[in-house]
Amino acid sequence: MNYFEYRDGVLHAEDLPLSAIAEQVGTPVYVYSRATLERHAQVFKAALAHLPHAHIAFAIKANPNLAVLKVMQREGFGADVVSGGELARALLAGMPGEDIVFSGVGKMPREMVQGLDAGIGQFNIESEEEGVELAAIAAARGQRAACALRVNPDVDAGTHDKISTGKAENKFGVPYDRTGEIYARLARLEGLEMRGLAVHIGSQLQSLDPLETAFTKMGDLLGQLRAAGQSVTHMDLGGGLGVPYRAGEVFPTPEEYGAMVGRVTKDWDTRLMFEPGRVITGNAGVLLTEVIRVKRSSNGPPFVVVDAAMNDLARPAMYGAWHDFDAVQPNGSRMVANIVGPICETGDTFAMGRDIDALEAGDLAVFRTAGAYGATMASSYNSRGFVAEVMVDGDQFAVVADRILPAQITDAERVPEWLL
Ligand SMILES: *Cc1c(COP(=O)(O)O)cnc(C)c1O
Repeated sequence: MNYFEYRDGVLHAEDLPLSAIAEQVGTPVYVYSRATLERHAQVFKAALAHLPHAHIAFAIKANPNLAVLKVMQREGFGADVVSGGELARALLAGMPGEDIVFSGVGKMPREMVQGLDAGIGQFNIESEEEGVELAAIAAARGQRAACALRVNPDVDAGTHDKISTGKAENKFGVPYDRTGEIYARLARLEGLEMRGLAVHIGSQLQSLDPLETAFTKMGDLLGQLRAAGQSVTHMDLGGGLGVPYRAGEVFPTPEEYGAMVGRVTKDWDTRLMFEPGRVITGNAGVLLTEVIRVKRSSNGPPFVVVDAAMNDLARPAMYGAWHDFDAVQPNGSRMVANIVGPICETGDTFAMGRDIDALEAGDLAVFRTAGAYGATMASSYNSRGFVAEVMVDGDQFAVVADRILPAQITDAERVPEWLL
């Protein structure tokens, strides 16, 4: 459910025609809907409301824009961060330190210090080595870092290999069979307060089954830790719920997810934590683009060359991902086309042989479901700068990230004197 709908033949974001945004801000541009973000946050909260003290930490990497984070903060969400930069964003958005969880396999000492300075609620430790390092840093400051140990449950999430994180060969978490031993060792360190376990098996999950398998395995570990005399008060169940990228696709709902979690965790007697990303922001954003020209091909469908490219929206090039593509003002006819960007790579292809609204040069179109892992993965490849981002609220909008021009990037570069 989202608020990008046709009215009088023109695609709107809430009450605003997308053509108005293109006119004032130019293209390509990411457009987020505040009402959709809020609705998704509220649906997720409601789905977990029956659980005792659920803590929801929005996975900032899905969409780190400060205005988006502000919406999350107003909905009472904390943040799951994976770098010092994301931690700084969560604080800028007004999220209290105690509501922030710090994940990631490569936390650097300065990032650990940054987390301790901010009084963050929990470090999710991904290895024994990291735990020992954090303990030393915290102890030297006379602090105890609250921690959960991230476990690799060796469960196949059934998603794309590049966004699968819970198989034994993935870099995330400690091996399932060694959890008890590592937890016990870390719990003895003066600088750490071990309070629980964390798990996150991957992203864009289309079935609840692998999650249920993973959570059930986590429940077994919880029992083993307690039997060994360890204290476990928090269990972090990560994120991963998928969203439809193609009209008509069916995904588990937050309600079904919440019900499954309730069933699996009913005897846990711990505080539960969640780290949703994609399911909150994915369908709350589109990438608005203009057709540069339509190019005939020698032996196949024509190429619709749009002004957005793989540097603006990397998912199709990176994961072969599908984004629905719709004209802002469809004229009623259809065409089969290859949709490509201007970048000099064949990988800069959004779709091949796709049945789409008929388009010609100057027409506007959108890639849908671009609100998660969209702008945040952008690069300036081919010296294209960074796309602007806009948030719509009813019939008004604000630019929530300026377009970064190629000249601003070259301004930060230097030719050394010895080359002049
Ligand atoms: C990426 C990530 C998430 C969010 O995943 P989604 O699929 O966007 O919900 C949550 N937790 C951790 C540790 C992550 O790395």
